[in-house]
Amino acid sequence: MSLIVQKFGGTSVADTKKILAAARKAIRAQKDGNAVVMVVSAMGKNTDLLVSLANELHDSPPAREMDMLLSTGEQVSVALMAMAVDALGSQAVSLTGAQIGIKTDATHTKARIKSISTDRIQSLIKEDKIVIAAGFQGIDEDFNITTLGRGGSDTTAVALAAVLHANACEIHTDVDGVYTTDPRLVPEARCHSYITYDEMLELASLGAGVMHSRAIEFAKKYDVPIHVRNSASDVPGTMISCQAASDNPAVCGAALTLDEARITVSDVPDVPGTSHEIFSRVAAKKVTVDMIVQNVARQGKATISFTVPKSEFATTLEALDEAAASVGPFLVSYDENVSKVSVVGMGMAEQAGVANQMFNALATEGINLEMITTSEIKISVLIARARALDALRTVHNAFDLHERRETARPKEAPVRNLRSTDTAEIVSRLARFEMEELFLDDISLDSTQGRVTIDGIPDTPGVAAAVFEEIARVGIFVDMIVQSTGHDGLANLSFTVPEAKLAESAKVASVIGEKLKCGNVSSSSNIAKLSVSGIGLRSHTGVAIRMFGALAEQGINVAMINTSEVRVNVVVDGDHGPQALACLEAAFADTLDKTT
Ligand code: ASP
Ligand code: MG
Repeated sequence: MSLIVQKFGGTSVADTKKILAAARKAIRAQKDGNAVVMVVSAMGKNTDLLVSLANELHDSPPAREMDMLLSTGEQVSVALMAMAVDALGSQAVSLTGAQIGIKTDATHTKARIKSISTDRIQSLIKEDKIVIAAGFQGIDEDFNITTLGRGGSDTTAVALAAVLHANACEIHTDVDGVYTTDPRLVPEARCHSYITYDEMLELASLGAGVMHSRAIEFAKKYDVPIHVRNSASDVPGTMISCQAASDNPAVCGAALTLDEARITVSDVPDVPGTSHEIFSRVAAKKVTVDMIVQNVARQGKATISFTVPKSEFATTLEALDEAAASVGPFLVSYDENVSKVSVVGMGMAEQAGVANQMFNALATEGINLEMITTSEIKISVLIARARALDALRTVHNAFDLHERRETARPKEAPVRNLRSTDTAEIVSRLARFEMEELFLDDISLDSTQGRVTIDGIPDTPGVAAAVFEEIARVGIFVDMIVQSTGHDGLANLSFTVPEAKLAESAKVASVIGEKLKCGNVSSSSNIAKLSVSGIGLRSHTGVAIRMFGALAEQGINVAMINTSEVRVNVVVDGDHGPQALACLEAAFADTLDKTT
């Protein structure tokens, strides 16, 4: 029998009328011949209310008691939902996280799921009951109640869908689906019919608030198709799966992260271990580093730029003081008034000229790029906060994201056809891992590329645009791009291209560099790019640090870095390629799924 998990968020169960409407949806799905498991959040703003009550009593409430408190919100919802189903003449049973057997670690208020037992749910389903599961909560080894972090009901829903081998996981919410960008900022934003897990992961991490990132990570790992839909209407919504829309646009979404701060450390001794030291110190203060850009060193001194949330700026500076005390003095410059604009899309991995289209649009608007970093499916730039909204609209417009695209896939495609593999097989294969453990699927070495670097780029819009415009015009595919701005206010831009195109690319860079009064242009064919890809790279923040640590231990220097949700790339000296690969494989041996 087909099984559906239906999750209803707080706004979709905000009052008894809405609870009844949700109950009707579940009953309808059951009458259509499906087994139904509902996952519900706390009603409306109840969780916020509980948080503020706690804060009235205590500056930092004990985390264990916070979980005890917050879990009650969902407990209210499941009980009322079960009553609603009963009132409508069907049978339901409500269960708390503990009753389902959602085992988590003991990290209160942000626990990770370790395992879920399905016996109880399975036997209730056999009795034709609608099972109503409390979202967002679990239980640790000592029977303490835990919660999964704000927004965690999505994660409960997708995790249950995975272990129950559900045919679909529906997320009922208060918007129509996943948009090309935040419609409150750009009214012409459009709702997607289809989007891939990777695109959604990137967008979710950029603050596209529709879904909890950890839920998408689950969905990707266990190949659970997710259907996001508006609980208040019958619009088709967005399907999130492993399959890209058939026309595979280069860019499917744009996002803005408003309150960022850029920190640049320059004159850092370009020796192995420096990045490791810096980022370990920052991580020790629980600051989440976002963009990291390290550029090719000049005269033995490297420049590393990175961004942190503006609210964590002061703490980060403290961490840097500590790092300087151990690796020797370096210069620190910063800009607290910056925002990040990103574009995401599976199609850009196969198309030349996407970056240049973005840079060009921004240059035309006179918007300067302080920092650039790219990954296979994402390009992010850092710009002055005063221009943030302009920049988002400009980019959204430049990629025609407001235009409706007809996807070739029929709207009514049965959800189960979106699966690429058999969930039962994946669940059993991954049984030896804890469910939310960091999980890598690949560590690879690419020695086929070369690097071009332009130094001393003046602080004016348009240089990156000019370079990549020309590179795209001659049809060269650019892979990594990193740009950062040093303490002298001059930027420094590096990019990688296929080795066969290196000479031509370097020539283009020289001509444009000279025309636009930049500094030195250099290139090297002897580089190695190492990539670590997998699931949970962001939520397990230690990945980049572990990479830097492993490389530093071998005395291997990192020349370029860029990161995304699903991959961390570093460029090292070409001669060190195989050694670097071996040391990364060793460093991550416990998390690598070799069976894929
Ligand atoms: N009630 C929790 C929260 O508000 C969990 C959720 O809604 O997903 O964060
Ligand atoms: Mg919620």
